[in-house]
Amino acid sequence: MENFAGVGVSPGRVIGPVRHMPPSVGEPPAGERHDTDTPEESVAALKAAAKTVQEELKRRAGIAKGDAKAVLQATSLMATDPLLLKSATKLINNGASPARAVWEAGASVAEMLHNLGGYMAERTADVLDVRSRIVAELRGLPAPGIPSSDTPFILVAEDLAPADTATLDPAVVLALVTSGGGPQSHTAIIARALGLPAVVAASGVDDIDEGTPVFVDGAAGTLSLRPGAEEEAAAEAYATAAAALAVFDGVGVTADGHEVPLLANVGGAADAVKAAEAKAQGVGLLRTEFCFLGRDTEPTAQEQVEAYKGVFDAFPGRKVVVRTLDAGADKPLPFLTDTSEPNPALGVRGYRTDLTSPGVLERQLKAIADAAAQSSADVWVMAPMISTAEEAADFAKLCSNAGLQTPGVMVEVPSAAVMAESILGEVSFASLGTNDLTQYTMAADRQLGSLAALNNSWQPAVLRMVKLTVDGSAAEGHAKPVGVCGEAAADPALAVVLVGLGISTLSMTPRALAGVGAVLNSVTLADAQRIAGIAVASPTAAEAKSRVRAELPVLESLGL
Ligand code: PEP
Ligand code: MG
Repeated sequence: MENFAGVGVSPGRVIGPVRHMPPSVGEPPAGERHDTDTPEESVAALKAAAKTVQEELKRRAGIAKGDAKAVLQATSLMATDPLLLKSATKLINNGASPARAVWEAGASVAEMLHNLGGYMAERTADVLDVRSRIVAELRGLPAPGIPSSDTPFILVAEDLAPADTATLDPAVVLALVTSGGGPQSHTAIIARALGLPAVVAASGVDDIDEGTPVFVDGAAGTLSLRPGAEEEAAAEAYATAAAALAVFDGVGVTADGHEVPLLANVGGAADAVKAAEAKAQGVGLLRTEFCFLGRDTEPTAQEQVEAYKGVFDAFPGRKVVVRTLDAGADKPLPFLTDTSEPNPALGVRGYRTDLTSPGVLERQLKAIADAAAQSSADVWVMAPMISTAEEAADFAKLCSNAGLQTPGVMVEVPSAAVMAESILGEVSFASLGTNDLTQYTMAADRQLGSLAALNNSWQPAVLRMVKLTVDGSAAEGHAKPVGVCGEAAADPALAVVLVGLGISTLSMTPRALAGVGAVLNSVTLADAQRIAGIAVASPTAAEAKSRVRAELPVLESLGL
């Protein structure tokens, strides 16, 4: 049996035939001109095609849910992006055909976004996707995208554009396997949100023959050709276990009764409502910047109060941890971010924007306090990207001025982990952002598929950062709670390690709650502590993961 190995980004075991993404729309020949149509007619044809593409993306956004909906809405806007259409019109006026014009214009817009870096660079795929759709529409070709099929299949692609992943029908697409992409790619995030097994960065899979039956193991990160009886049994066992894993009973607790509340990561009120339905025990991370992505101006006090109150109302009487705006790097907000920085991940982002845009943070804290006053949620507030105890103290003062009683910090910079004792002397709690903590500890850009092996929270160096933070939090005289709200908390095996290291809450995408809850419930706190010791003492990330998994046979039986 031939195997392909990649990075498993969403667990699950399935068997099905491979279907590849159809060939992309070809580039219209350089110099292709609009011979018969007038420039006006060509511009009109381009605009009509762009509008049709936009309508189709909007229609798909209408039927999609959650993250998928947001991604499709954003991509649909790109179809009639004024810059794209303006540059294409200019090229048409110089004689280019509408297809050639939009192709070239799309390339320049994509290059511009790529050069801006961070979140903007991620939009590059959206522009190129929209450009192909417009060319297909102009040429009368079928729209590029996921093959339509009445029977289930395993989708194999180089990487998936947001517009594709967003409209995946999990009843037909059994699993996703890409030769490119990284653990933070759209493919990975959407697969986790949909609960589809997924493997990224699996080189060689593009050459598998169409229709070949394969076995995908999303936890192990493998794809195997010609599955036999053993794989069939594993897939069947997973299907049975998955049904049981669909529901979280609402209490995170170890086998011996040690409670670890399982909370949700949300980006706004709609997410919060879904998280409450999934029985999350509260919100461990409200990414407030997600409420205002793409905004050119600071949201008004009223807009902010409404956005936050929508989340609080979904969790009456429960804990909701609000993170103040984390703008910059992969999530620039035009009103806070200087996109000309040479190295945005190390630039003015997160709490640091208070230096360059004074007042925004105070106004946000006031809005959070106002929204909290109108709800019964237990509102905690934390700042992203805190690096020093002075910053923590300044943030605590701002919270207190706004009337917010429970200030905290994200620990996502190695200096914060190292200095946890003095930082936690200034605030009430900490939450480990393992996504950034991993990228900064390993100096590996979290967006890059090629660095997926380094950018892995199983790295013993990252686990030691977690331990340093917990040790600092338990210092004499000020025991303070430390949670985890990075993606590490959603990995059931890693969740056990984190609890063993002394983490008191885990916050994750709601889909992960049941799996994490079930695995946690299968170990005692002493087991978790022993297993954490094994992980921290392991020489490599791969060994840490395999040694821990060997200690947790429940993962195998649950297909996780
Ligand atoms: C993190 O860095 O782990 C985190 C939770 O923050 P974000 O992913 O929003 O940067
Ligand atoms: Mg972060």
